Amino acid sequence: MDQLSLQRYLKIAIPVPLRKIFHYLPPKNFPMDTLPGSRIRVPFGNQTLNGVLLGYSSKNIEDKYKLKKAEKLLDHSPILTKSVYELCVWASEYYHHPVGEVFAAAIPSLLRKGHSSNIEVEQFFLTDEGRNLDRGALRNAPRQHELISLFRRTKTGISRKNLNQISTRVIQSLVDKDLIVRKFMKSQPFHFDRLNDNDIIPTTEQQAAIKSVGESGVYLLQGVTGSGKTEVYLQLIEEKLKAGQQSLVLVPEIGLTPQTVQRFQARFRVKITVLHSALSATERLLGWQDMASGHAGIIIGTRSSIFTPMAKPGLIIVDEEHDSSFKQHQGFRYSARDLAVMRGKIENISVLLGSATPSLESLHNVRLGKYAHLHLRERPAGISKESYSIINLKHKGVVNGLSDQLVEMIDYHLSKKGQILIFLNRRGFSPVLLCSECKWMAACPRCDARLTYHLSRDKMECHHCNFKTPRPKACPECQGSELLKIGLGTEKIEEHLNTLFPNTRVIRIDRDSTRNKNSFGQLLKEIEDGEPAILIGTQMLAKGHNFSNVTLSVLIEIDSSFYSADYRAEEQLGQIILQVGGRSGRGKNKGTVVIQTHFPSQPALKQLIADGYEAFAEKLLKDRRENELPPYSYQAILRAESNSSSVALNFLRKVANIRKPNPSVSLFGPFPSNMEKRAGRFRAVLLLSSSSRGKLHRDLSYRISYAERLHLRRKVRWSVDVDPIDLF
Ligand code: ADP
Ligand code: ZN
Ligand code: ZN
Repeated sequence: MDQLSLQRYLKIAIPVPLRKIFHYLPPKNFPMDTLPGSRIRVPFGNQTLNGVLLGYSSKNIEDKYKLKKAEKLLDHSPILTKSVYELCVWASEYYHHPVGEVFAAAIPSLLRKGHSSNIEVEQFFLTDEGRNLDRGALRNAPRQHELISLFRRTKTGISRKNLNQISTRVIQSLVDKDLIVRKFMKSQPFHFDRLNDNDIIPTTEQQAAIKSVGESGVYLLQGVTGSGKTEVYLQLIEEKLKAGQQSLVLVPEIGLTPQTVQRFQARFRVKITVLHSALSATERLLGWQDMASGHAGIIIGTRSSIFTPMAKPGLIIVDEEHDSSFKQHQGFRYSARDLAVMRGKIENISVLLGSATPSLESLHNVRLGKYAHLHLRERPAGISKESYSIINLKHKGVVNGLSDQLVEMIDYHLSKKGQILIFLNRRGFSPVLLCSECKWMAACPRCDARLTYHLSRDKMECHHCNFKTPRPKACPECQGSELLKIGLGTEKIEEHLNTLFPNTRVIRIDRDSTRNKNSFGQLLKEIEDGEPAILIGTQMLAKGHNFSNVTLSVLIEIDSSFYSADYRAEEQLGQIILQVGGRSGRGKNKGTVVIQTHFPSQPALKQLIADGYEAFAEKLLKDRRENELPPYSYQAILRAESNSSSVALNFLRKVANIRKPNPSVSLFGPFPSNMEKRAGRFRAVLLLSSSSRGKLHRDLSYRISYAERLHLRRKVRWSVDVDPIDLF
């Protein structure tokens, strides 16, 4: 018997939440040299699912008589490149996540549903008749005349998409007259001839950074906001384009920074795929195909873009690499930043991680010699550095979160025609509604959380489960009529600022004020006119924008970070302070950054302001090492939730007690989550920690396979989180 006929079974990844590879018999006439990464339709239970071929097996399978036959091969060649396929398999192992679900997360939804992966586009070309047509010939049909002139000016064909301004009837008339012809073509690899005008000359530091980035390896580009990191990206991408290679750029949230995309589009005359959550399934597939076929030169996208195949991979960039949005927080909990590093290794191309405030993990990797460290310390001429100061709230008059001193500063900057940016990471009007009589507080019936009062909708809302209810007119406990709105949200600050500065525009940016389509863009435009204004907003306002006339940036209500149970809180606070600070002083005027706090002498904060981010990070790394916390140890979390509190805890207790952990793996818990009840479900966690990644993963594997067999698993929803960011 030859080798092939020994391989009797297909190994298939199926999108179901089971950590298992499924075996099937090949369908009739199945070519046994079909490559892994091709889709295949199989019967599963009483449904039909599209899986991904992983390979072949010749092993004797116990109940082989029960094996079902796969239905149909959907692709003649793999839909994923070999590298992306390998990345998925690696991620499934590393994150201990079912491989079928990993592929499902990596593939556009239409392909998941079985849509054809054909990378063909409808294109129109000028015929000889069209080319030789008499100039005056279409005088009576001006629109046809215009279109044929367009074709004459264009050397190559024009795709249907690029003709979407032109009516189908006009196109069809030219086709009917044999002046143009329709063809379905494989999309062409991108053709990069030149840049649009660009008069930026890299600074010495930028040049050094650009030169350092080689053909492979990982590079951490650290530079304060405005130091020209994006310019470095653009120059590196240009080199790749010239070599016919594509670049993949991961950004935290595209909706927040339309300017970045515009800057790329303005620089390169090459197709750019932009992937973000607001796209339709078709748009998503087209963008994916443009990269997979090599038709697009660049992809800019949020975390799931890391799985987009590239025909000619050249470079991977992760902008704002410290940003927690690169970590998926549910289901398949991968870190797109970490996958980018792994993908670079698999593709053998370089990976550039950029940030003004690199994560401690990346700084640690620099120290270990795994990443090269590149710096941009100076800002290109014309942009000044901002200066930081603290307002000590002790013994200060504070009304609605704004100290007298701060109000004076705002007044001063307004008088100088500047804009002021106030960062407050809490939307709504007030986070607490309290009865002055009996101290009753409005709480969410589905969560261990209070309801936030929203002024614009005059409603109480839960920020954890979206529960909404009318504002009570009286206390439900004692019928008292005085309900106090305690605490600060962006709406309250907005209202207060409107009374303090009745003649100044106050622009609020948070998820509520930008809910309607386009409203975010409109608000950004209003800000960009540069006229004096006070901007108040959440993270949405703090990230990435290039406001040229903000002269004062303010952070209020930050103190909870200093006594948070989350050991990452300080790191994140330092990052947000510099992010917010970086919004000011981007124009001609110097920027001032002010932090209001009751803890002016908090050591990390003092260090950040006195010595900058590097010294701050140094101190935090030292703390982490002393406490054996990441990046000096590795963590994983098992989470469970159920309809009753004891079940989730019991489930994890069994997983914890199955065996003593390897002496070098520590177990913490199980204990109820920080907010035990959320959206009506009770949640518990079990934390594993070790100084050895290998030992952690082996212990974790053992517990997972035990959990999978536990009877109680049917009563809980449970999940695994490797390298968790949220501990609770
Ligand atoms: P970052 O990405 O680090 O925030 P950018 O690349 O956006 O920084 O640069 C900030 C500003 O400085 C941009 O307006 C950019 O056009 C400009 N800039 C960057 N590099 C140079 C340079 N070498 N010469 C002049 N201006 C530059
Ligand atoms: Zn009451
Ligand atoms: Zn709730």
